Amino acid sequence: MSAQQPYSFFQSVERSFDKAAKFTQWNPGILEQIKACNSVYQMRFPVKMDDGRIEVIEAYRVQHSHHKAPCKGGIRFSDEVNQDEVMALASLMTYKCAIVNVPFGGGKGGIKINPRKYSVYELEKITRRYTSELVKKNFIGPGTDVPAPDYGTGEREMAWIVDTYASLKPGEIDAAGCVTGKPITQGGVRGRREATGLGVFYGIREVCNMEDVMNRQGLSVGIAGKTVVVQGLGNVGFHSAKFFREAGAKVIALAEYEGAIMNPDGLNEEEVFEHRKATGSILNFPGATNLAKNTDALELACDILIPAALENVINGDNAPRVQAKIIGEAANGPCTPEADEVFTQKGILCVPDMYLNAGGVTVSYFEWLKNLSHVRYGRMEKRFTENLNGHILGQIEELSGKKVSDKERAFIMHGPEEKDLVHSGLEETMITATREIMEVWKSNPGIPDMRTAAYVNAINKVATSYAELGIFP
Ligand code: NAD
Repeated sequence: MSAQQPYSFFQSVERSFDKAAKFTQWNPGILEQIKACNSVYQMRFPVKMDDGRIEVIEAYRVQHSHHKAPCKGGIRFSDEVNQDEVMALASLMTYKCAIVNVPFGGGKGGIKINPRKYSVYELEKITRRYTSELVKKNFIGPGTDVPAPDYGTGEREMAWIVDTYASLKPGEIDAAGCVTGKPITQGGVRGRREATGLGVFYGIREVCNMEDVMNRQGLSVGIAGKTVVVQGLGNVGFHSAKFFREAGAKVIALAEYEGAIMNPDGLNEEEVFEHRKATGSILNFPGATNLAKNTDALELACDILIPAALENVINGDNAPRVQAKIIGEAANGPCTPEADEVFTQKGILCVPDMYLNAGGVTVSYFEWLKNLSHVRYGRMEKRFTENLNGHILGQIEELSGKKVSDKERAFIMHGPEEKDLVHSGLEETMITATREIMEVWKSNPGIPDMRTAAYVNAINKVATSYAELGIFP
């Protein structure tokens, strides 16, 4: 909590929930049960650092909802981590999974460290120790709770987690399903790395393909030609920027920790990434202008603003200066409820985090299914499909006496690889979720914004699940 932020992150999730609950008919007891965090595990453990010092590490794992098993949600490494934040993020996961029809309860983990201040060996020791603490309390496992990457963690940490888990559970045939976001060699799925950014892109593209919505925002239909600003050039921000650029949008500004840059002709995120790697900063990128403060990027005139760094970056203070027509919440909780009120007044469409950044958990679900089935996607059908397509094409060419071009032949013949199937499953998921939320919004004109419509959709699904379990007769 701070002067600009009078209540905590978890309280702001609760406020959004309460705002949406008014548009449902559920028993208050059911609503109370959905809102509450079911299990909160707060831990402290010692780790010996490279210089011989013993540091006591503060960490958390929260299981927000057990209405479906396992629980699912990332692990964050940040010195901002606290119980309230992990609880808020875990609850967002419950609603997110419900919206995208992924059959998990919400969970989240956090270790209160700044990973930049530790050596790789120290990070490995912290991650492995955290995992064994989770095992001890049955807070991890393919059927109980399945972590994934989040802010400050990636494939490397997930590999340490699965290795620790498997060594503590010898012979557990489904051990690989205890965590997702793993490297391919450790049971990961192709297409996971870019999944969240790609999901952000698919979700916003679907919104931009809705003529009535674009008319309301004063924009043309489609992505091509739209101006985009991205905050955060990490996993989610980088891939969001990449897919928007590849679809013909112009990424006119990028913001990072150390500053922000702008080029009205468009920036290439890969070149900026290489520049940052070489110089240690995105600033002074050739052809771009440095902005005075990194938060200035959030206030630039643009069609689509993608905050993809941390929570609460757009609040009651700076929201009145936001000029974007659409905000795509790639990060978790980047806009506060006060900001939402400003957006409603100004007619800015805020596409909410809890479904827009669900690409990661959707593809994590595909990875978990792959781990449980012990077979790579596409392995069974790729050759069969190619043989069948070849046969159909051969028949058409023989009967018509005409040949298709080599490019068309390659396209028609192609049998699905793992990545094709994963991307296709993600595209279907994001399109369906966007349409469902818009339907809820349209069917109840009293709903003030898309976030509330998304919450209503989530509450209806989770409440139905509880009601069908018979807990609340
Ligand atoms: P990341 O660590 O890969 O990247 C975050 C980036 O934001 C870093 O490059 C960091 O330097 C930058 N950053 C930090 N503070 C900033 C500031 N004030 N201004 C500009 N940039 C800043 O993390 P990520 O995985 O990309 O996650 C980003 C957000 O997306 C988080 O809110 C996370 O919870 C959410 N998210 C991530 C995933 C996923 O699959 N990784 C899925 C869903 C949601």
